[in-house]
Amino acid sequence: MSTPTTTLLGGPTLPQQRSLVTAIPGPRSQELLARKASAVASGVAHTVPIEAVAAGGGVVVDADGNSLIDLGSGIAVTSVGNAHPAVVAAVQNAVAQMTHTCFMISPYESYVAVAERLNRLTPGDHAKKSALFNSGAEAVENAVKIARRFTGRQAVVAFDHAYHGRTNLTMALTAKSMPYKSGFGPFASEVYRAPASYPFRDGLSGAEAAAKAISLIEKQIGADNLAAVIIEPIQGEGGFIVPADGFLPAVVDWCRANGVVFIADEVQTGFARTGAMFASELFGIVPDLITTAKGIAGGMPLAAVTGRAEIMDATHAGGLGGTYGGNPVACAAAVASIDAFENDGLVGRATEIGEVLRARLDALQAADPRIGDVRGRGAMIAAEFVDPVTGAPDAALTSAVAKAAIAEGVIVLTCGTYGNVIRFLPPLSISDELLGEGLDVVAAALAAA
Ligand SMILES: *Cc1c(COP(=O)(O)O)cnc(C)c1O
Repeated sequence: MSTPTTTLLGGPTLPQQRSLVTAIPGPRSQELLARKASAVASGVAHTVPIEAVAAGGGVVVDADGNSLIDLGSGIAVTSVGNAHPAVVAAVQNAVAQMTHTCFMISPYESYVAVAERLNRLTPGDHAKKSALFNSGAEAVENAVKIARRFTGRQAVVAFDHAYHGRTNLTMALTAKSMPYKSGFGPFASEVYRAPASYPFRDGLSGAEAAAKAISLIEKQIGADNLAAVIIEPIQGEGGFIVPADGFLPAVVDWCRANGVVFIADEVQTGFARTGAMFASELFGIVPDLITTAKGIAGGMPLAAVTGRAEIMDATHAGGLGGTYGGNPVACAAAVASIDAFENDGLVGRATEIGEVLRARLDALQAADPRIGDVRGRGAMIAAEFVDPVTGAPDAALTSAVAKAAIAEGVIVLTCGTYGNVIRFLPPLSISDELLGEGLDVVAAALAAA
């Protein structure tokens, strides 16, 4: 028994404070983690050793009564705010009406409403259509299926530092072996990897990095064989890598000139996160297909592929779908979330949060040569930690800082091909005060490390 006797409601009315009443993990959390260790497969790891019981605004509360500042949003998912009142109400209404019919058996309105919103909000004013799925990886798999059917070609190009998921095809697309791929092969065939633009480490301009990638694609694959190029406009798990100016437009232009479908994987960057509704807008690109998930439904599992109507319609009837894809409760949550992004002004709020993060992290970097780079857009900002002398990635420092911050009640996540990046993905419902306090704690953890 490790749930509190009184029901603790989440959402924005939770006290917005960092408050530690026990060490992390406290006794109740330890009890749950012991049960987890014996009941849950050890491959399913966790970052923050607590039993979460409620969340909202900018905090996560645990079973011991600790209130932690949330700078991770459950990996960019609860961008509208955890247990956002409009999402909660929409879910409660929807679930009481029906839990499932299967959209492929008996269609319902909320699925269509989500598709209409995605078609309207994603970049480009061409005719668009959407299809809904359960997870980001499933959306990516389906985007590749659609591109192959449309082009009649098979090859797919993904990039260094890419993360596209953990299913078989998406493991092949994902770059990093440990922990995502190691021992899980064989992987799907006809997946090729091109060099990404990583300005801090490759020193190339966008045009140079694109020329390098395009040359490899032409020499090793050939445009005639290539169905799709898939890329995250800002790479997420790979280290919040922002490509050099001009890189993405050059790749898109090459795809368009060669009949290759350009897929933007906006599973992490989508829905106001970067200070634009979709990160593609920041780079002036219009993808042919765009995959979304994470922030789409305020925490309910939902994902989508949205894109040019003629590409989306190239697939025969019955070729796309899934039992749960576009579940009515998840769709109701998505309609409420997407409306909240617009009604709560969250694109502008992400920009403001980005300014707070940038100012603070830039100042830390100026005073501490162990921060090699601060980068990102909007409320998707990261710091890359290095050896000040050699510039080599410092994963040990990174994990020490993250662990110390968590022990002090601030949830931060790490990422990066070299494991040396701390990423900040606060919910867009966080206050400036909590965000500032969270950054104070991270700064103190770095100073002490
Ligand atoms: C998280 C993520 C995925 C996978 O999404 P899941 O819902 O975990 O399957 C795919 N692409 C990107 C860019 C992601 O960040």
